[in-house]
Amino acid sequence: MRSCLTFSFLLFLSIVNAWAQQRRLESVQNKTILVFTPHPDDDVFGAGGTIALLNRNHNKVFIVVYTNDDKGSYDPDMSSQRLARIRRSEQEVSEGQLGTPKENIMWMGYDDGMLEYAPQPKLTEEATAIIRRVRPDILLSVDPGEWYERWHKTDHRMAAFNTIDAVRAAEFWLYFPNQRLQLGLQPYQVPEMYFFYPSPQESNYFVNIESVAELKFDAAAKQVSQFEPAVHKYRSDWDPKDLEKAKDEMRKEQPRKDGHYVEAFRYATGFNQY
Ligand SMILES: [Zn+2]
Repeated sequence: MRSCLTFSFLLFLSIVNAWAQQRRLESVQNKTILVFTPHPDDDVFGAGGTIALLNRNHNKVFIVVYTNDDKGSYDPDMSSQRLARIRRSEQEVSEGQLGTPKENIMWMGYDDGMLEYAPQPKLTEEATAIIRRVRPDILLSVDPGEWYERWHKTDHRMAAFNTIDAVRAAEFWLYFPNQRLQLGLQPYQVPEMYFFYPSPQESNYFVNIESVAELKFDAAAKQVSQFEPAVHKYRSDWDPKDLEKAKDEMRKEQPRKDGHYVEAFRYATGFNQY
């Protein structure tokens, strides 16, 4: 009897342990993941290691890019149209390196820096439709935490708030009811969310990216136009010396915990009701 109880207890422990293991983002498998990013690079800088792990573990990862990033160049000979094209192809290569196929990248197409001035109902409606269509098991986005209201890039602020507003709208069908009536999109409740770029005070979840850290730095370096010298005078490739310098910088800046590289998130299971 006693050995039977011990066995049951051990079985229970192993089930609990397996469940806890499963719930780590590092080991999630065969799920649908939706990532909202303000610009074509924040997903890679903020959560690239995690995205690589999710792809490696046979999850279906979709990326939604709010803006075309057509302003951030100091090059006097650059045009917005050309920069948008460059940023798009860099993002496809960069995400491709992390294992995300380019057909899984959705472009909302807003101009860089202008997200805050986009028609609000339209912006939320579009993000809501994407959530209802993709129906993610896990959603990643920029942190809409309190600290963010004080200072941040306009598009980051807006993307953070808009995404969480869309998460809320997605679960009540009376928000944008035409999506159900005309498009057949049913309401959907996002069960789990991880917010990247959290403030240090609000980070509560750390993903160990040690095994994919170099892959992440390589992928980030594919965003050539974001770095020196291409940000000042555009060139499509790297001088090997500049590339090594940029990657060293990334290695220095990537947070570490208990001796390994991590990505920090704020974890949540629903929007704030109050
Ligand atoms: Zn950004």
